[in-house]
Amino acid sequence: MNTIEKFNEHVMQTYGRFPLVVEKGSGVCCVGEDGKRYIDFGSGIGTNSLGYCDDKWADAVCAQVRSVQHTSNYYYTKVQADFADMLCNAAGYSSVFFGNSGAEANECAIKLARKYSFDKYGRNRHNIITLVNSFHGRTLTTLSATGQDVFHNYFFPFTEGFVNVRANDIDDLKARLDDTVCAVMLEYVQGEGGVIALEQDFVDTVFKLCEEKDVLVIADEVQTGVGRTGKFLAGDWFGHKANVTTLAKGLAGGVPIGACLAGDKCADVLTKGTHGSTFGGNPIACAGGKAVIERVTGDGFLESVREKAEYIKTELLKINEVDSVSGLGMMIGIKLKTKNAADVVGKALENGLLLLTAKDKVRLLPPLTIEKSDLEDGLLILKKILEE
Ligand SMILES: *Cc1c(COP(=O)(O)O)cnc(C)c1O
Repeated sequence: MNTIEKFNEHVMQTYGRFPLVVEKGSGVCCVGEDGKRYIDFGSGIGTNSLGYCDDKWADAVCAQVRSVQHTSNYYYTKVQADFADMLCNAAGYSSVFFGNSGAEANECAIKLARKYSFDKYGRNRHNIITLVNSFHGRTLTTLSATGQDVFHNYFFPFTEGFVNVRANDIDDLKARLDDTVCAVMLEYVQGEGGVIALEQDFVDTVFKLCEEKDVLVIADEVQTGVGRTGKFLAGDWFGHKANVTTLAKGLAGGVPIGACLAGDKCADVLTKGTHGSTFGGNPIACAGGKAVIERVTGDGFLESVREKAEYIKTELLKINEVDSVSGLGMMIGIKLKTKNAADVVGKALENGLLLLTAKDKVRLLPPLTIEKSDLEDGLLILKKILEE
């Protein structure tokens, strides 16, 4: 029995997978079980932010594994203290709760927002506005938060208390931002929804109205955060700091992690016994996270991400089949004129290039550390496929 047959015999079939068994990797490339090399323009799924098995990152993670791999949250670890300090400084936040995934980070943000409001205003101010076409995770509550009907099936009853507003529709926002609302949750660039950045006007209005009404803004930066867009947070492009920001995907370079960051106003809302996670703040994850933050906040790093992003965009727009390019920094959506995105991703795999999709677009989330020469090689493959 080969690996894929063995895999499918026991692993629940919840994903549509491509026929590639990833065995190892280095830099931008991974190597399949068959020995074939692939340039990975998805960096896992925005997770391997420093590429595969970056030396410094791997050394930090391995050293941590050999020192202490886990302890309960009844005790302290230095690595979590150091990581929390670095992360809060880099992101400009006062406090952080660590979980293990994006959905968990968002669950924490939702609990925090509801408790913030409950503490100040009591019951019945629990609604959270999320945007149509958003994606916030796969737990029951984050599915409720997700503003796409396709996710609201089978698993009834869902968590109550989420209200959807159309992205960039200020009138819709105003109509629904009543005194039952405790938070507005948004992705500055909708990722799974098709790599679509919000409009500055809309974001400005959200922040202004929320400030006036003491409604918290939660930025889901699970995909956009930690340098992905060429700023440490995507919010930096918009000139706003959300009260709460969630991070996950690229935060620890490929080890499971989630973080919910809170600003001054709501830094102390979650008190003893109100939230927890067995693995949250795991030392291995924190060691990986430290290595990522060190790199991303290093001299010239974010500038180089912005430069490479411009280069990718320019090169893509030279391809006739490319209709338009969306997104921010190295979070890129490609709208095609005639070809089907999923077909292109399949073709690319056959040609040694890993791509992602987002709705009807081809999506790129290359490792932030990608070298120009690897970018050129990958883009050449993509160009060939698109011009076939
Ligand atoms: C991926 C993603 C999530 C969910 O993260 P998980 O780690 O899969 O739970 C939530 N929000 C956004 C914006 C994402 O891109």
